[in-house]
Amino acid sequence: MKIRGKTGAGDNLVDLFISDGRITEIRPADISQTSDIGDQDLRLAPGLIDIQLNGYDGVDFNDTNTSAEQLAEATMRLWRTGVTAFCPTVITESAEHITGCLSNLIRAADEFPEFQRAMLGIHLEGPFISSEDGPRGAHPRAHTRPPDWDQFQRWQETAEGQIRIITLSPEWPESAKFIERATDSRVIVAIGHTAATQMQITDAVRAGARLSTHLGNGSHAKIDRHPNYIWEQLAADELWASFIVDGHHLPSSVVKCFLRCKTTRRSILVTDAIAAAGRPAGQYRLGNIEVEVTPERRVCLPGTPYLAGSVLEMHEAVAKTVLYSDATLDEALEMASRNPAQMLDVDDRFGSLETGMQADLVLFRWNNGAKTLDVGTTMINGKVVFQNLW
Ligand SMILES: [Zn+2]
Repeated sequence: MKIRGKTGAGDNLVDLFISDGRITEIRPADISQTSDIGDQDLRLAPGLIDIQLNGYDGVDFNDTNTSAEQLAEATMRLWRTGVTAFCPTVITESAEHITGCLSNLIRAADEFPEFQRAMLGIHLEGPFISSEDGPRGAHPRAHTRPPDWDQFQRWQETAEGQIRIITLSPEWPESAKFIERATDSRVIVAIGHTAATQMQITDAVRAGARLSTHLGNGSHAKIDRHPNYIWEQLAADELWASFIVDGHHLPSSVVKCFLRCKTTRRSILVTDAIAAAGRPAGQYRLGNIEVEVTPERRVCLPGTPYLAGSVLEMHEAVAKTVLYSDATLDEALEMASRNPAQMLDVDDRFGSLETGMQADLVLFRWNNGAKTLDVGTTMINGKVVFQNLW
């Protein structure tokens, strides 16, 4: 099969060949010949990867009643946003509730190959986060608690070893030991929802923390100008940083500065989307938490200024990153494909257009004036799984 589209920093028009689900060859397009899919008006990119996703289009990953069928349906609906792989995210709740959500994900992976193929590990966001108002965001205070390795191991057992990222706050005295153990077991420790001191951030990085979860959010409304936990994480080159670029979580000037500081090589775009993503404004739930989606597409806890996830879609995050920062389209795409694949250590199969890679691809229209990205075709293993009928 031959796919044609523009790609890379140089806008090169290429023909990409696929066989047995893999990319076998990429060469300059021969426009005297036709292609099977794509043309010179479309751009070609690797399938997008979202490492923080709480739900999509009515399906809540944090509801213990969510069925395996619903999880598979959400996976298939995500194809229209160019997302071909993701880390379903389970947030702070009681131990039983978290166990229930993890079991659901594993059951879905057992029963539905689409879901198994898409899940690049589970992201457990909490419950070992700050209990302070502001840093804990929408996470219920009653269930925030200090890191507990035995409890984590029980969850990891339920998850059949699939918990790949844990977001915690290093402000708890038990944190450094926990981070070392998690890192030794190949779990990526992320700093997030934190009120940690400068020293606690430094210690967490020394213990093995590798990511800042949605840096600039899940924090106090007012903090000391310096030092503070945001500067410390921005300055720590050992840390990747994820950002929610939806126009609500971070002002455009902050997106621009954070990306320059962290560089586009160490930045990762996430949606942090909830079940309301892909749906109209109204009242929704995130697990047991009531949330409101305003007509401006802002997701908050009713009656408070606190955000509770987003309704952002990944193709939109890429476009908004180009709009707000000086990242190029190519760099923004890398922040949503190559960078998460590298952090998750799956970059030998996913995240870039190279010979030998899995043929997970997106063909899209890019409007550089309006900075909008419309997904045209999504492919997994070289098979078309979504086609936009323009
Ligand atoms: Zn969060």
